[in-house]
Amino acid sequence: MGQTAAPARTIRLVRSPKDDGVGVFRIDVGGRPQFYALREVPCEIGGRGFAVHRLGMGTVYHVRVGGPDPSCECLGFLRWARCKHVAGLSALIRQGAL
Ligand SMILES: [Zn+2]
Repeated sequence: MGQTAAPARTIRLVRSPKDDGVGVFRIDVGGRPQFYALREVPCEIGGRGFAVHRLGMGTVYHVRVGGPDPSCECLGFLRWARCKHVAGLSALIRQGAL
């Protein structure tokens, strides 16, 4: 959690995917919450795969984390090779929440 350069960002799992495979996490950036739904999907090339979409928005991103080569389909990742989806899911895995 020692990131600088960006506004304070916290990530929390608010609904565990344990029961039916669908979880919800929230990212707070500068005090504004954004809610995302996640579902783990099989990942055959290492790491763990998740389908993620922001609630209320249609776009689904496939995110791969937990391996040496994370990836995401969003524009931010395409441009900068990092994004809040990868950072968020990685943080939740580190927390033991996923
Ligand atoms: Zn992303």
